[in-house]
Amino acid sequence: MKRLCLVLLLVGLSCSAYALSAAPGRRPSGLQLCFPRPQAGDSIVIAPLEHLLVNGNLAGEARSLMINGQAVELHAQGRFATRIPWPGESLELEWITDAGLQRDRLVLLPPQVDRESLPPERSLLPGRHRLQERTAISTAPGASYWLFPLPQALVELRESDGRWGRLELGASLEGWVPLARLEPAAGPFREPALAGSALRYEGEARWSFALRPGPLVHHIEDDGSAGPLRLQLPGVFSAFDRAELDPAGLLEHMDWEALPGGGTELKLHTASDVHGISVSWEDGRMVLELQRAPRSLKGARILLDPGHGGEESGCIGASGMTEARLNRLLAEELARQLERKGAEVLWTVRADERMGLYDRVAVCDSLQPDLFLSLHHNSVPEDGDPWSTPGFSVYYYTGYSAKAARLLHEELADWGRLPDDGLHWRSLAVCRQWTCPALLLEAGSLIHPGEEELLLDERFRRAQAKKIRKALQEYFRSVD
Ligand SMILES: [Zn+2]
Repeated sequence: MKRLCLVLLLVGLSCSAYALSAAPGRRPSGLQLCFPRPQAGDSIVIAPLEHLLVNGNLAGEARSLMINGQAVELHAQGRFATRIPWPGESLELEWITDAGLQRDRLVLLPPQVDRESLPPERSLLPGRHRLQERTAISTAPGASYWLFPLPQALVELRESDGRWGRLELGASLEGWVPLARLEPAAGPFREPALAGSALRYEGEARWSFALRPGPLVHHIEDDGSAGPLRLQLPGVFSAFDRAELDPAGLLEHMDWEALPGGGTELKLHTASDVHGISVSWEDGRMVLELQRAPRSLKGARILLDPGHGGEESGCIGASGMTEARLNRLLAEELARQLERKGAEVLWTVRADERMGLYDRVAVCDSLQPDLFLSLHHNSVPEDGDPWSTPGFSVYYYTGYSAKAARLLHEELADWGRLPDDGLHWRSLAVCRQWTCPALLLEAGSLIHPGEEELLLDERFRRAQAKKIRKALQEYFRSVD
């Protein structure tokens, strides 16, 4: 895993020591050490690595910085950022100011593993279970997230293995979830699941169908604008023989076919400007809502998601700037520009507060905006070279998001003010949502000291926000 910031998004957990507290203060010596971060007095708790990233800045006119005997270059405002071999027991810094030789020493301590905080091993009997909360089903214990069922979805547990359970999903599919996320559910073992015979139009772009015995695991396959939207229900037998279409023509046609190994695939042929679907569960029925893209940024509802916040600051640049703060500065500038063009700006989290990744997705599900944009700034791992990966990158996951992601990437690449670190399809928690196009922008590398200077410049930020706004404008304009 290359980037720390992205590791957090993938696992959906709070991050390592690197991102758990706000910007560190200045020490009596004049040193502000941003990474590794002093935690208690003169000590730093960190697991030993082969190399260590060290960044921060020095007060006054500092010269000739040495870190554990290695000369380190100083930049504007006394900033430094380097990667050194693992220093062992302590981190020792020496530098010269007009007042003479300055020293600081921090002890490195290995983290105490708190075994009590690990989830207990469980053993659950095979049979029907309910997923306790919004969780993902993985392809193997600890492996890639794969399916994203509704909260409270019913699943069939086949075996327990330590902290993981193997689920039989139907259609010859199996998946794994942490046992801690399962709760035994009542009901006969292996009762066949059945989808009702009618896809009913409920008005306002909503359809529903009955599904027995409860919310079951589904999988959406969308190919962007081409081909039908495919809603797969492994293990579910279908009795579909009629569907109500809507007067506006969002749903142009529907059919279904049986999945090999048992299951149903509902094929929804939607209007070309449909760019999102949300799936929910109400009163024994699966509810599908189709989203039509507006044709202009004017009036479009954009959900901005400044990454990190509160005590979870994200990475910290050598100046002491936190990623959370920089994400918010960019989001606020972008919001101003979007509102000037008539867009309605919504926020996943308005104040500088910590918010879980799935909670951000839940906000998107409930607000049903026209586009979701998560703003981040990049970093490298704790043993990485801060100079190694400059530039911006754009991430998306669903087919609905591909076009908007490409336009955003193109606009920033053509601008050329930052190196292009690519356009990526990637299973990130905040991008795994089908309600609307969902993008994540790493707007630059905060850990790269040269780039940090640019990112701190307000004029640069205004110009960058303008490019992002233009890309979104172009996206809505391109809707046909
Ligand atoms: Zn981040």
